[in-house]
Amino acid sequence: MSSQLAQRELSRIKEWYYHNYPLCLFCGHYVREGDLAHVIRRSYSSEIMTLKLNTGLAHRECHSIYDDCPGQAVYLPRMPEVMYIVYRLDPQYFFRISEKYPLLFPFFERYQEVNMGEIQHHGEILTLQYLIQ
Ligand SMILES: [Zn+2]
Repeated sequence: MSSQLAQRELSRIKEWYYHNYPLCLFCGHYVREGDLAHVIRRSYSSEIMTLKLNTGLAHRECHSIYDDCPGQAVYLPRMPEVMYIVYRLDPQYFFRISEKYPLLFPFFERYQEVNMGEIQHHGEILTLQYLIQ
């Protein structure tokens, strides 16, 4: 996919989120105006760069915490779900980055128990918080 085509597809996905699921991928609150964030960095794979499940609307601040500060990112309320998406999209990538989030290990250990069929976007994931209650 050319980068121009990819860009157009990403704009389309962003519009889709504004109309269908305008909540922040990382904190879960309403996004009036924000970024289209990637769960797995867009530079990692052009194949999943334009996959809806790998994206979501995000507040700019939540987005930059996720991208740049793993130590703070563990406190973003939807991190268990976000990392579950990483786990589903690319287990190898997941195992490579999971050690950055020690506070989330109790969730990671139980991802295999999550019984979830096809999912198209992050809004379909019910909260996984129940896993470690
Ligand atoms: Zn947010």
